[in-house]
Amino acid sequence: MSEKLQQLQSQLNGINRQLLHLLNEQGRTADEIFRIKEQQGISEADPIGFQQMVNELTSNNPGPIDNDTVMYLFSEIFRSIMKKNTKHERKLLVSRQHKSKDTIIRVKDVEIGGASHVMIAGPCSIESRDQLLTVAAALKNAGVTVLRGGAFKPRTSPYDFQGLGVEGLKIMKEVADEVGMVTISEIMSPSQIDTAARYVDIFQIGARNMQNFDLLKAVGQTGHPVLLKRGLSATLEEFIHAAEYILYNGNDRVMLIERGIRTFEKWTRNTLDISAVPLLKQETHLPVLVDVSHATGRKDILLSCTKAALAAGADGVMIEVHPNPQAARSDAKQQINIDEFNTFWKGLRDSGFSLK
Ligand code: PEP
Ligand code: MN
Repeated sequence: MSEKLQQLQSQLNGINRQLLHLLNEQGRTADEIFRIKEQQGISEADPIGFQQMVNELTSNNPGPIDNDTVMYLFSEIFRSIMKKNTKHERKLLVSRQHKSKDTIIRVKDVEIGGASHVMIAGPCSIESRDQLLTVAAALKNAGVTVLRGGAFKPRTSPYDFQGLGVEGLKIMKEVADEVGMVTISEIMSPSQIDTAARYVDIFQIGARNMQNFDLLKAVGQTGHPVLLKRGLSATLEEFIHAAEYILYNGNDRVMLIERGIRTFEKWTRNTLDISAVPLLKQETHLPVLVDVSHATGRKDILLSCTKAALAAGADGVMIEVHPNPQAARSDAKQQINIDEFNTFWKGLRDSGFSLK
């Protein structure tokens, strides 16, 4: 290497070291600004005037670096400072960093997220008192503790059965009181909260409403347990942020449920993302369940997928059971009848899984 080249190389190394020193200095100063603003209760959103600083730099840029490059470089630097200092990036309320211990949700005498696995079962929709009572009695007899049934149904077509509404919730309470079960039913809007709270023990927020932020905020302001379903095409990051809305608004009685996601696969209704179970257990402290009926949309692999879910660490599963699935007013294809349920239940026990 020529002497000139060597000299330039060492000059460059020196500039790099100075830059590194200045970057660290800049980071420390920005941290200090964040700290002071936090103490003063000033909102964290862009506390260092991101855009203003970039504008000032580009208008005073002597060159030869062009303004686009200056903008790019400084935006990246500011972004990394923001990321490090913004509270929600540091510690989500749902995260294990915030709370290392598993959250256990107690609903009457049922514990979800504790030592035993929970089974949530019942029809897709509540259709009549007779229908619900027949299923509930069989499930209770088998040892199932949580009864599901939809009264407000999110249907793809407005011409399909929309559920019995409040009438359905009343039936659910009556039946559950009679047999002695905990109940869960879907709500789709904040306006349904007060009524539903009188009749059901756990609110379900369905896949289609996972990012209904007004609903998430509103259930967050109640103390009612919430089962939050993963959206049809939601990433796990979107899913846990949806849960974060509920906790952020004051309610930490939240359970997550994987219910299959949309993929190109046609042999199942959705694709059961089994990896979601250990990942959600690892990243969050909330109970994690799997809805095997909606994830698969078929009966023949229900047992295998349930075992897979439990083996992957799920705290419980949900399945749809109907006294006469062929005549069901929703999800007829995937619901199992009572005999099929009993066989399924025995299959689980024979494999060493005991659920309540
Ligand atoms: C349901 O559980 O009744 C339901 C509609 O499921 P999802 O929201 O997962 O589609
Ligand atoms: Mn259904």
